[in-house]
Amino acid sequence: MSSELTRRTAAELAELIASGQVSAVEVTQAHLDRIAAVDGQVKAFLHVDAETALAQARAVDERRAAGERLGPLAGVPVAHKDVFTTADMPTTAGSKILEGWRPPYDATVTARLREAGLVIIGKTNLDEFAMGSSTENSAFGPSHNPWDLSRVPGGSSGGSSAAVAAYEAPLATGTDTGGSIRQPAAVTGIVGAKPTYGGSSRYGLIAFASSLDTPGPFGRTVLDAALLHEAFSGHDPLDSTSIDRPVPPVVEAARRADVAGLRVGVVKELGGEGYQPGVQARFNEAVELLESLGAKVAEVSCPHFTYALPAYYLIAPSECSSNLARFDAMRYGLRVGDDGVRSAEEVMALTRAQGFGAEVKRRIMLGTYALSSGYYDAYYGKAQQVRTLIIRDFEAAFEQVDVLVSPTTPTTAFPIGDRVDDPMAMYLADLATIPSNLAGNAAISVPCGLADEDGLPVGLQVMAPPLADDRVYRVAAAVEKALQDRWGGPLLAKAPELVEVDR
Ligand code: GLN
Repeated sequence: MSSELTRRTAAELAELIASGQVSAVEVTQAHLDRIAAVDGQVKAFLHVDAETALAQARAVDERRAAGERLGPLAGVPVAHKDVFTTADMPTTAGSKILEGWRPPYDATVTARLREAGLVIIGKTNLDEFAMGSSTENSAFGPSHNPWDLSRVPGGSSGGSSAAVAAYEAPLATGTDTGGSIRQPAAVTGIVGAKPTYGGSSRYGLIAFASSLDTPGPFGRTVLDAALLHEAFSGHDPLDSTSIDRPVPPVVEAARRADVAGLRVGVVKELGGEGYQPGVQARFNEAVELLESLGAKVAEVSCPHFTYALPAYYLIAPSECSSNLARFDAMRYGLRVGDDGVRSAEEVMALTRAQGFGAEVKRRIMLGTYALSSGYYDAYYGKAQQVRTLIIRDFEAAFEQVDVLVSPTTPTTAFPIGDRVDDPMAMYLADLATIPSNLAGNAAISVPCGLADEDGLPVGLQVMAPPLADDRVYRVAAAVEKALQDRWGGPLLAKAPELVEVDR
């Protein structure tokens, strides 16, 4: 029963718990057992504390026994990206500079998970301060892709994608600044969504690039991702960029799962050259599938998407250089060389030199340069103008079509170590995901098959205008349903090592 429970979807688990067939404690214990069995190899988690997890589960069982009405995911475990503050667990953001820090408060996303009765089973690994595409920039070592342990699970939310793909948790949280939910979801064969910017709260999320950072859900099914999306999204007065509008009906859309009559645009600039043939092939088939399901498909050009990556690598580092100034050796975590003689400036310099990794330093330097007087207009200012052109490309496209589609990533999961010495190669992993961050619109990645070259998962990206999140879930669910009928089950069931690791 125990290992069988970890194979269930979040929706199924919630039903089993609600009907009293299993307790939240049993479900949590099954996942803790699974973590104990496989996480030595997967390394998805930075922190798991069985007692804290079980106490949360017990509280849900007690509330249910007392007749309290609980949310639709009550008692279901969730793996929480270690970039959200948690008052009862450490929060590192994958950095040495925060090692040992205990946040004094819960992020809004954390608080809402608790209110919904979700069991936070542990904190997941990530690239330091969410900067990266593979988790290799984590100060605590990389996570491994459950499909092939020698490969990356994507990033920056790679601990979360690995945990869900390895059945260590049915759900996980992530943050998507340039692709950090959709890219790891794509390369591990699961579902990951980036809500509309401002649709989910940044309060208590350790900031990387504030105009881009967006919390979002991971699940093994579109419905599970939608349920988690609904559980933690919505207006938050503590976040000044939070949108004061109802959460789009994503769960209803995931259940509806039809695309008849929907206008689908294939983005001309996202695909072809630079994309792995097996990725392109599965994407092309997904487009044909959409057409066979009754969608009206057309090619749409978004000419400025070509400049999205360079614009992002000016805007995101600029915001990061400002946000990371708060790590001053006085307020949080690490403090190096404080001998009572050295000045505060010296202690700050020593702490930042030792506490930040190479990629974080690279970003701080890039951003400081782009914002410096004399260069500001040429770099940061120009990048913001490009951002406006990209927003206009989206607006023009969404006058012609209801959703846009592309491959989520140019390639499948790459081997650990392959790109660590080549930042440009690493950055290219987000070629197709970054435009939606710059424009703040809704997007999702859903599995669409395995690449012929390497047998690894490929993701289909669906993008919709801001606040039309329900549309991306509707299309993703339709694709998922049709493909699962064809495959006779979920794509993840084809993952070879997962099965072995369990025995
Ligand atoms: N890989 C991109 C970067 O390194 C995106 C990261 C993210 O979305 N957090 O900036």
